[in-house]
Amino acid sequence: MQIHNLGFPRIGAKRELKFTLEKYWRGEINQDEFYKQCQQRRADNWKIQQQAGIEWLPVGDFAHYDHVLNTTLLLGIIPERFSHNHDSDNNSLDVEFRIARGQAPSGCECAASDMTKWFNTNYHYIVPELSTSAVIDLASKVNAKTLIEQFNEAKQFSDKVKPVLLGPISYLYLSTCEEDSISLLPELLKGYQEIFNQLNQAGITWLQLDEPVLGLELDQRWQQAFTQAYKTLEKGQLKLLLTSYFASIDHHISLIQSLPFDGLHIDTVAENSNVSKIISELPSHWIVSLGIINGRNIWKTDLVSVYQKVLPFYRELGERLWLAPSCSLLHSPVDLVQEEKLDDEFKSWLAFAKQKCQELTLLKAALINENSDDITVYSIPALGRATSKRINNTEVLERVGQLTKKDFHRKEGFAQRKAAQQAVLNLPLLPTTTIGSFPQTGDIRQVRAKWRRGELNQEEYTQLIKAEIKGAIERQEEIGLDVLVHGEAERNDMVEYFGELLDGVAFTQFAWVQSYGSRCVKPPIIFGDISRKQAMTLEWINYAQSLTNKPVKAMLTGPITILSWSFVRDDISRAQVANQIALAISDEVEDLIASGTQIIQIDEPAIREGMPVKQSLWSEYLSWATSAFCLSAAKAPASTQIHTHMCYSEFNEILAAIIDLDADVLTVETSRSNMALLDAFEEQDYPNDLGPGVYDIHSPNVPSVSEMVNLLAKAEKYIPIERLWVNPDCGLKTRTWPETKLALENMVIAAKEIREQLKAKVA
Ligand code: GLN
Ligand code: ZN
Repeated sequence: MQIHNLGFPRIGAKRELKFTLEKYWRGEINQDEFYKQCQQRRADNWKIQQQAGIEWLPVGDFAHYDHVLNTTLLLGIIPERFSHNHDSDNNSLDVEFRIARGQAPSGCECAASDMTKWFNTNYHYIVPELSTSAVIDLASKVNAKTLIEQFNEAKQFSDKVKPVLLGPISYLYLSTCEEDSISLLPELLKGYQEIFNQLNQAGITWLQLDEPVLGLELDQRWQQAFTQAYKTLEKGQLKLLLTSYFASIDHHISLIQSLPFDGLHIDTVAENSNVSKIISELPSHWIVSLGIINGRNIWKTDLVSVYQKVLPFYRELGERLWLAPSCSLLHSPVDLVQEEKLDDEFKSWLAFAKQKCQELTLLKAALINENSDDITVYSIPALGRATSKRINNTEVLERVGQLTKKDFHRKEGFAQRKAAQQAVLNLPLLPTTTIGSFPQTGDIRQVRAKWRRGELNQEEYTQLIKAEIKGAIERQEEIGLDVLVHGEAERNDMVEYFGELLDGVAFTQFAWVQSYGSRCVKPPIIFGDISRKQAMTLEWINYAQSLTNKPVKAMLTGPITILSWSFVRDDISRAQVANQIALAISDEVEDLIASGTQIIQIDEPAIREGMPVKQSLWSEYLSWATSAFCLSAAKAPASTQIHTHMCYSEFNEILAAIIDLDADVLTVETSRSNMALLDAFEEQDYPNDLGPGVYDIHSPNVPSVSEMVNLLAKAEKYIPIERLWVNPDCGLKTRTWPETKLALENMVIAAKEIREQLKAKVA
């Protein structure tokens, strides 16, 4: 039995790669130094894995920026705008960074390739751009030198080294393509064949071929493409370990077993898989790799129950059994040992990447000896977590248990609510508003940092934040917006802010996970029952409202977004956790209403990204996700207006669920796509108020009045004007005040212009 790893976090225990990248981008280190530091990263990672007992070390999992981009570079698929950069120093590293981020220390700026989410994780990959011309004559462009060099580097740490390569079908599936992408497969395969040839020449044996799209329900054409690919490729002496993760692949086994692979990796934790049935259907000479340690969470594994599950397979398969984490450890933080501020009990529940490798080693020893004593001792804390007093706050459990259907709905329908709200708010046609945050200036960041370091006391801090709120309210009144916000100066991050104010949520010092490139996130850990310690936003919102006669919209983060951007306890269902968070938000909603707030926005930007990989599982997810949102808002009486906001994703596919949220007003990102989202409303009417973003906040450009008038005219074709709002497409925290002010002034003029036009028409 062998233990292997599918990939290790590349960012480093102290985010070393981040700092290396940023130094190179700022011109503080040269390429030689950059490459040297990257090599050090890889060496450190292999050493950690080898010392933890991993036998087959992965290579090719490391990337300067992204592993999908690595595959693109390996294949030599460089879109023309990057290869034609008129630049004497057109070196490959800077081409790589121009593709990833549009700029590099040398060469001209150039529109970066798109970036999008890697399945249902919070990792983003660089979307390959394919075209007939890009894949023509691919074999001559392929260069596996880097991968082979790294293979040789890794050999210093183990004589067993296994390159990891994204397979052709997943690569094709994840690409954008003007043509029908499957038609490019034959050319693409010539490139993959050349990679195989070069790896053969280098004497490589095992190759891990990642085909995560197998977790999806592939249609007939993609299934045929899969067969075509693996019947065409000649593997030579390579042994192919077909690898998929994030979802079960039971539905594709008859396809998989008919092809010339040498082994199959099965993610046994993502979804229910019938592992024994799968094994019985595979050719009897294949290796079976069981992904039994969850690569995506931070909890210690209950090794005893895993042992009991795996033992029969070990008895059956013997040497044919390999053990691994469920997926690449890219999605988990690096090393728990660094966390000095967590108490011992809490730490005893956790395992990060390094500890997950150690778990595999423990498990292997137990299986070989058929003796589970060591892992029984190891598992005690993992089991203890479920019964710890810190977790089961019976009050929350009881509250969730007592919920009934009516708790998930507002009493009145939208029409009745709209009338009640208008009676109180008296808003003009095309009300103007913003999404919540205003520029996070250096001053604001300083204030928060000083307060965290204890250099400001609570009173001083409150005064300084209030001064920011006052400034934001004054500016909004000058600009002439109809519905104001307090500006979110007290928040660094929309999830962290609420997480820190909730019981049942913990924060680490170093549990960073790569989001994209040099960007990392440190997700909160939801470990126990969730409740509010006290009101979370009241003081800021009430203060803001006291400064103006215009309505101030309160800002909350929704339960699904808090859930999606956290590490979540696994002893109860995600739906139950979502309901617990929703109750805490609902308590805040009640407090806000009691203190006179008329408008409350509950942001849910992450609702789309929490969806399971398989489409057949979407409806179940969407049903509990929308319920949790509704629960958080349901206490609002008819006259309180509930807004929600969404961005970052394609929402067309989940429009029905968005309608089910039943928010009075939905503000949503649409400006970059020229309102393409609204096309979906051709088929399905959006019944409530809608604020399609009229300008892109990601750009420093100030939008003109006429651009926004045009976009609104377009929106009016889909949504009657009585239900249209006017707003930017997301929060403004990354912008500066001067550009924000100009942009919002133009936006207000645009709204007024249309109002005038209408008046003229009526008259
Ligand atoms: N209210 C938040 C803000 O304006 C929304 C952020 C988001 O959509 N991601 O910053
Ligand atoms: Zn947004």
